Amino acid sequence: MALIVQKFGGTSVGTIERIERVADKVARFRDEGHDIVVVVSAMSGETNRLIGLATDILPEGPTPRELDALVSTGEQVTSALLCMALHKRDVGARSYNGSQVRILTDDSHTKARIRHIDDVKLRGELTQGNVVVVAGFQGVDENGNITTLGRGGSDTTAVALAAALKADECQIYTDVDGVYTTDPRVVDGARRLEKITFEEMLEMASMGSKVLQIRSVEFAGKYSVPLRVLSSFEDGPGTLITMEEDAAVEAPAIAGIAFNRDEAKLTVLGVPDIPGVAYRILGPIGEANIEVDVILQNIGEDGKTDFTFTVGRGDLARSQDILSQTVTELGALELRVDSKIAKVSVVGVGMRSHAGVASLMFRALAEVGVNIQMISTSEIKISVIIEEKFLELAVRTLHSAFELDAEPEEQPTAV
Ligand code: ADP
Ligand code: ASP
Ligand code: MG
Repeated sequence: MALIVQKFGGTSVGTIERIERVADKVARFRDEGHDIVVVVSAMSGETNRLIGLATDILPEGPTPRELDALVSTGEQVTSALLCMALHKRDVGARSYNGSQVRILTDDSHTKARIRHIDDVKLRGELTQGNVVVVAGFQGVDENGNITTLGRGGSDTTAVALAAALKADECQIYTDVDGVYTTDPRVVDGARRLEKITFEEMLEMASMGSKVLQIRSVEFAGKYSVPLRVLSSFEDGPGTLITMEEDAAVEAPAIAGIAFNRDEAKLTVLGVPDIPGVAYRILGPIGEANIEVDVILQNIGEDGKTDFTFTVGRGDLARSQDILSQTVTELGALELRVDSKIAKVSVVGVGMRSHAGVASLMFRALAEVGVNIQMISTSEIKISVIIEEKFLELAVRTLHSAFELDAEPEEQPTAV
């Protein structure tokens, strides 16, 4: 008998029929004698619908506190409905919202971080033989205000509960049957990975693969939570997120390709090439709490240089406002912005021991005429910024160039 945390995403609980199917699955695990804690998302589309209602009233945006009070209701609906479906199957089940469990968070509304989880009530329910169904995505701050954990946050609720309860496994059930070499909705030949390391999964999530929320992967790595991504709709082994790194020689250079359309580029042309300019440009951006991603500064000529960086698209207008003042102060020539860009990243721990990954990537993109605007690297990833219209072509090209469509070759057997 094991203690398992199972999370079902929005599509998996998107209709009453699907909630009934989830109840069948949970009941099956319960029949096998396991202790089950379920975490549910809101029905697919519900969180967006609720945000839409809020902006109908206040187009400039509601206060974050009221927004959290509103959007947390989506998950409460599905947690209660799933309990009812379990009762119909004679399975004892009780729903809890984040505040009832006491998932204590900081007070950063809409992007709160979990500080502590009280496991007393959950353990009590399990001891009485009940399935506990927890509303994902939410918590409560010290003053009793409802908070939410950022989009996709139910993944983090599940992993955090698994860590707090020292669960044997945290299973993330979703609308694909595992983590793929790239988004299977974009590349037909994408292949399910049997396993991927935490480090790679974290990089994939950070670079745009939204199959798991970034914070859930951070949490799982930090607390060594055994984590698996599986299909809600069909049985299968899914993908295990693992601590082990295959021996470097065996690991393929690249585990997967992630991409992100959510960035915008700002270039300040003709800034003086003197110490302190990067700080004067990026300092005010940082003070405004805007995250900067890729940064590029060219070699100067005639005492002038260009300075380029990217921010999330949602932060473009604010960044532009801030920079227009900096441009005047610095006596720079011009500010240019481009929101039609995309970032494509190849990710893999195998990169540490394989030479030539960057040149293969750049050659493959050159062969299909995709111009690289910016490059950034870490130990296990290479990212390029390209024109958004080339995104799908670039991802498909790199997927074949790194031979990700093919099944891994079988090891030759000794005779
Ligand atoms: P849920 O509602 O269950 O949380 P999400 O939409 O958040 O589901 O995440 C699942 C989606 O993630 C898939 O439908 C798929 O399109 C997308 N995705 C992006 N990159 C990958 C990847 N590398 N492997 C699998 N799915 C991916
Ligand atoms: N319902 C929330 C969202 O749509 C949280 C989640 O589904 O994980 O982002
Ligand atoms: Mg999700």
